[in-house]
Amino acid sequence: MKKMINIFQPSLGKKEIEEIKEVFESNWTGKGQKTKILEKYLSNKIRVDRGNVTTVTSCTEGLFQIIELLSLDEKDEVVLPSISFVGAGNAIVSSGAKPVFCDVDCRTLNVTAEHIEEKITEKTKAVILIHYAGLPCEMDDIVDLCESRDIVLIEDNACSPFSKYRGNNTGTIGNFGTWSFDSMKILVIGDGGLIYCDSKNTMKYLKEKLYLGLMSESGLTNSIDKKWWEFNISSAGRRSIINDITASIGLSQIKKVDSFIKRREYIHKFYTNNLKSLDWLMTPEDFPDYIKSSYYMYWIQTKNSTDRDDLARFLREQGIYSTFRYYPLHRVPFYNNKQKLENTETAANSTLCIPLHQSLSNEDIEKVVESIKKYKR
Ligand SMILES: *Cc1c(COP(=O)(O)O)cnc(C)c1O
Repeated sequence: MKKMINIFQPSLGKKEIEEIKEVFESNWTGKGQKTKILEKYLSNKIRVDRGNVTTVTSCTEGLFQIIELLSLDEKDEVVLPSISFVGAGNAIVSSGAKPVFCDVDCRTLNVTAEHIEEKITEKTKAVILIHYAGLPCEMDDIVDLCESRDIVLIEDNACSPFSKYRGNNTGTIGNFGTWSFDSMKILVIGDGGLIYCDSKNTMKYLKEKLYLGLMSESGLTNSIDKKWWEFNISSAGRRSIINDITASIGLSQIKKVDSFIKRREYIHKFYTNNLKSLDWLMTPEDFPDYIKSSYYMYWIQTKNSTDRDDLARFLREQGIYSTFRYYPLHRVPFYNNKQKLENTETAANSTLCIPLHQSLSNEDIEKVVESIKKYKR
């Protein structure tokens, strides 16, 4: 088969293998020293205290765990943009609460405080938002809204691992944040994620809940005047911890991630500069200077929705993969939601995400641009 230009792709190599080798030689592959160091590096990078974060098996599991902490039931509602990752919708449904899908801005695909406010009722307990493609939402207004209504604010930060809004890392602006390090994300550790919580006490409880509810890390941390095999639990927790093999990959990736984001930024600008003159499509608008994107996705929007679908097929024939993220949840039959969300519909019918990752060569990105121009000048 002819080589396909991927939309996302991890950059893993010798350095990661060297880190893994150390884990093999240590005779311990479970959660241990490497995971501890990774949590320390990540908390430093997003400039929060080590006691406010924990690693977790995936971002999806992080969302489930956070929602469980809120003890919701069928009388409660959680507002989220319809253009969200399916795991967020599932976490709400499985808690028994009702997901309430809201609209987004049709150019940025981000929610604003107004879109959220339209859906708030006295039953609203939480909001889960995403920073689409790495571009931070207007957080000042959203934080004010949630604080004034006593609503828990959760940031699904999978797209925006090191994005900044007015100097603060996204994911640390609300009450909770979750990151993803799966194979399609910017920083890849295999599978895994990070959770931030603004309360250290809640984080302590959550960390125990991620490991069977156990209240001490291992028998070795109990003093020897006790019988160290005795234990207590603080919750009926599951097992949602990462391991040192996975964490060791992260130790190498975290050293490279700034250069990944730099290359992604270059490609983002290259696409915009080379595509903005085409009058049948729209490129992302310039970002405001008080934000910093992680450049997770690059998206174009066609003025005519048949162009979007035809272009996607044309690019695929040319060996270029493209897709639309995230298919609106209110259109997913399972959620049985029949409302109309005008901007969401418009965005979902016109938006196409094209390849953006740090391993794309200049030749690759020139081919992407040339192929789009070949489709229509
Ligand atoms: C990938 C992704 C997730 C899920 O991350 P996992 O670590 O694979 O569970 C959640 N939200 C968004 C926006 C994502 O892109």
